[in-house]
Amino acid sequence: MRRKYIAGNWKMNMLPNEALSYIENLIPKIGKTENEVIICVPYTDLFYALLASQDTHIKIGAQNMHWEENGAYTGEISGKMLKSIGVEYVIIGHSERRKFFNETDEVVNLKIKRALDCGIKPIVCVGETEEQRDKEITEMVISKQIEKAFEGIKDLENIIIAYEPIWAIGTGRTASPEDANNTIKFIRSKIKELYGEEEAENVIIQYGGSVKPSNAKDLFKMSDIDGALIGGASLNVDDMAAIINYNC
Ligand code: 13P
Repeated sequence: MRRKYIAGNWKMNMLPNEALSYIENLIPKIGKTENEVIICVPYTDLFYALLASQDTHIKIGAQNMHWEENGAYTGEISGKMLKSIGVEYVIIGHSERRKFFNETDEVVNLKIKRALDCGIKPIVCVGETEEQRDKEITEMVISKQIEKAFEGIKDLENIIIAYEPIWAIGTGRTASPEDANNTIKFIRSKIKELYGEEEAENVIIQYGGSVKPSNAKDLFKMSDIDGALIGGASLNVDDMAAIINYNC
């Protein structure tokens, strides 16, 4: 039986003092949950979020990292640096990074490999655009993203996949639980083809795209949806707590 993994992605929001008080507020609200709770914060909040979440079951993640260990890459942050301060997760290949920073499947693959080498668990984002969905090529697009992202990666034990249909991100339009579940089932079948039945059964696959307290429960009821990657709603501590506590 897979556990639920509920992750917030703050994107480029929240100052360090806001991060501190958010985490301090969240801790007592989610004391009963057995779900994995991950908050992915901007680099400048990492240290504060890590301090505030010490000795709790909240895990802290980053939203990006470079694929090299160190070197002349002005402005970049390496996985080794993240690991050195206690970061446990990192989002890789978010559609906003693919769109605004030209991140390719090849770069995503290099970053996943480096994160695993550093002992950080990547949350790997895949998903189709609205145009691709209208053309009914969602499965083909995701299939290619997965093949390329995981090329040369032996097992998926420390990897989370987040299915984020791009048309549902920040738009208030959520995929229906049935549609999200069907695409996630397809992803699982792709993993089975590449890695076998056991990996497919065990891999955690989240849904992301306009998840909020009012739709989380219906999404999480579905057979193949193992949690969520939440943008906007994760900025509000009460909304995030309500999503985390959906089954408490
Ligand atoms: P929203 O929840 O704001 O739609 O964002 C989803 C997302 O991009 C999470 O990574």
